[in-house]
Amino acid sequence: MSDRNDIPPQDTPILTIKWLCKRFPLASGSARRKSEFFAVNGISLKVRSGEALCIVGESGSGKTTLARMIVGLETPCQGEIYFKGQRVDTARGRQAMQLRQKMQMIFQDPYGSLNPRMTVKQMLMEPLRLHRRDLSRKQVKRLIKEVLNDVGADKTWLERYPHQLSGGQRQRVAIARALVLEPELIVADEPVSALDVSVQAQVLNLLMAARKNKGITFIFITHDLAVVESIATRVAVMYRGQICELAPREALFDQPLHPYTQLLLSGVPTLGGKPFSRQPRFDDSPQFFENLRGCPFYPRCAKAQPQCRREMPILKPAHDDNHFVACHAVEAALEAQRPMRKPEIASGLVKVHVAAPIRANKNVSSRDEPKESKTSHDQKIN
Ligand code: SF4
Repeated sequence: MSDRNDIPPQDTPILTIKWLCKRFPLASGSARRKSEFFAVNGISLKVRSGEALCIVGESGSGKTTLARMIVGLETPCQGEIYFKGQRVDTARGRQAMQLRQKMQMIFQDPYGSLNPRMTVKQMLMEPLRLHRRDLSRKQVKRLIKEVLNDVGADKTWLERYPHQLSGGQRQRVAIARALVLEPELIVADEPVSALDVSVQAQVLNLLMAARKNKGITFIFITHDLAVVESIATRVAVMYRGQICELAPREALFDQPLHPYTQLLLSGVPTLGGKPFSRQPRFDDSPQFFENLRGCPFYPRCAKAQPQCRREMPILKPAHDDNHFVACHAVEAALEAQRPMRKPEIASGLVKVHVAAPIRANKNVSSRDEPKESKTSHDQKIN
């Protein structure tokens, strides 16, 4: 596998996300009672050019919804997305077409993402026909040949349909289809989770070679911590639609700060390690979270304090400007060791003014609302 540090990430952001939210309506027994589920709730993030950012979290944490909003497959309810300074979420027509060429997505299920009625050749030519009309037939042929070579595909695959390929071969074709447009950013949503372990390493090597040789920035969505450890330069941990910890890979694995990150890492099996401790049952019904105005990890957290139920923790710098955590207990512990750095003095980061965290339940009376939630917070995006 290629060395993840072969091309150091640049400080210039390729992608900037500001206070992104996506909510879906929840089915309810009563027609009068409308409730909503926040799949993504107030995410701010900067992705540096050339980095491999892994977004981890359990199922339902909002990873895929975030990925789909980044590439324009889902419309955010609130917030802004910028690709190299160009607004993505409001782009239409020609501008949207140009952005799609620069940002490609690789899906989890290669069989579902490939058109069963098209041959591999047709699938590779289609994006070029749409986005690269300036290319001659000869140039198109050469580009397809190069891409097939990059992904280790045989030219005999060109006349095959997806059902005539194995799972690993289909994922190579899906990667080739993303690479053929020479994108600058690839969002890969669980690209290897549907593949055999032996094929997983080959596909990850392919993606990392593309990053090294073509300077492509990658956002990997995964819940496999072994994948994260082998390819990430930086890791964002998501829980219930929010980023709870963001850190360079080494810092996150060596010194996880957020109780949820610690729980995730403790779940990685090791040879001769301790048996897993049983997790206490907790209420994860939508109704419970509708009324919870504080930390979404509160029902499961061993370090929970009364403040956690009332106040949403904000992502703040912990040890340095690269390690961020959203947790009242960690903030208190760090403050006890030394005064917490004020976000304003952290250099090299964009400062944004964000509204107070959105309350899921609009039906809660103002009497129940804590005073803190009426104030706004200054938060940095990293
Ligand atoms: S804010 Fe409170 S409930 Fe949330 S993770 Fe930290 S200690 Fe636990």
